[in-house]
Amino acid sequence: MRLDVVTLQVAFGLIALTLLVLFYGVSVRQQQSTYSKWWCAAIACFLTGTALYLLDGTHHQVWANPTGNALLVAGAACVWGGARVLRALPPRRWLILAPPIITILASALDSPSTNTWSAGGFLLGFMTFYIALASVETWRLKPDITTTQRPLGVASGLLGLYYFGRWITFLVAGPDSYAFTTYFGTVPTTMFTIVLLLIVSFTMATLSTEQALRDLRAQASHDDLTRILNRRGFLDLATAEIRRPHSRDTPCTLILADMDHFKQINDTYGHPAGDAVLQAAAAACTRAIRSTDLVGRYGGEEFILLLPGATPDTGELVSGQISRTLRSMQPAFDFPLPTISYGIAALPPGPDRLQTAIAAADTALYEAKTAGRDRALQAHPAHHERARSPQRPQSLDDRSTTGPHTNTPSPDQP
Ligand code: GH3
Ligand code: MG
Ligand code: MG
Repeated sequence: MRLDVVTLQVAFGLIALTLLVLFYGVSVRQQQSTYSKWWCAAIACFLTGTALYLLDGTHHQVWANPTGNALLVAGAACVWGGARVLRALPPRRWLILAPPIITILASALDSPSTNTWSAGGFLLGFMTFYIALASVETWRLKPDITTTQRPLGVASGLLGLYYFGRWITFLVAGPDSYAFTTYFGTVPTTMFTIVLLLIVSFTMATLSTEQALRDLRAQASHDDLTRILNRRGFLDLATAEIRRPHSRDTPCTLILADMDHFKQINDTYGHPAGDAVLQAAAAACTRAIRSTDLVGRYGGEEFILLLPGATPDTGELVSGQISRTLRSMQPAFDFPLPTISYGIAALPPGPDRLQTAIAAADTALYEAKTAGRDRALQAHPAHHERARSPQRPQSLDDRSTTGPHTNTPSPDQP
């Protein structure tokens, strides 16, 4: 079967154009995915570059052939750029720009008006180089980034090998040799590229959907203002943590932290000042904990921490550290920062460990408030017993009307 080169290139152009339009419309405009932008740029370069080769044999070949070569190299550079972005690494600008520029200059000096393979060694060498780099980046992706790592890695690896073979055959046997025209000429390369374009586009589309889902999940579990976990996010992760098999045999401590007289900050210095204090308090909590601990914004000016492996005494040390860190941030504010009161409880054995500890820490927090604020108190066994009783409040929000401390005027309330 002999395939007509021009028909094949037109088919390739149509497929690439359709993919470009679909990709741009869905992944780039709707999902704002960065690597899809690189992939769109790559398809656009391949498309324009291949279209320019259709001018070979006309008087336009003198400029069209070198420009087409440079665009194909730029397309391969964009494939690598996209793979870098996937790994959250910025692509190096000079490494993206220099090879296409070298290619166009080398082509311009290699009789481009008559030579359809002007600077072919540069073209194929740079393409092999970029595709190999993209393949390495793809294999080095963390498995939790995507479920499509394998097809992407296999596709880019195969393409890298093919281009390496093409490059070596070009250098050793030349573009008119039997080996080159049979295995690496325009017809096999175009067919191979169409198949790979489809594989990569499909996996890229999956990737941007996965990224959009990850972003949505992160948004749903984090607090907009402080960037730490919100109540739902904290409870989900804390529940998963205490379900881990080893967690039953090790201590685990829960801390509830509530800023003292926070309302006065809003009333006296304005809501934006209150927001800034909340951000500072969240930062202080984050700085005081280990990477295995959890911190979340539980309610308005209330924070919740889970310290796996820690005893309530360690919880007291962590509380002290949070308050000290917040005090050290004072120079950044032109009004006095509020203090924080803490209730600390160990997670008891048995069912409902988390909710029982939250209720016990809440009672201890109430006692810290009534005892004068700016202190940390540990829950004692009676708190746990009370916490297990059916009448206990379910959350700090419920507590604001029924529970012990929130919104309850206390002796030193101004
Ligand atoms: P206490 O020492 O008893 O805890 O008194 P408090 O003033 O800290 O507690 P109270 O519950 O009376 O007030 C909490 C305030 O937190 C009321 C609410 O307007 C404010 N608040 C809740 N969320 C936000 C927020 O996102 N930003 C700001 N600026 N204020 C908030
Ligand atoms: Mg408060
Ligand atoms: Mg409160």
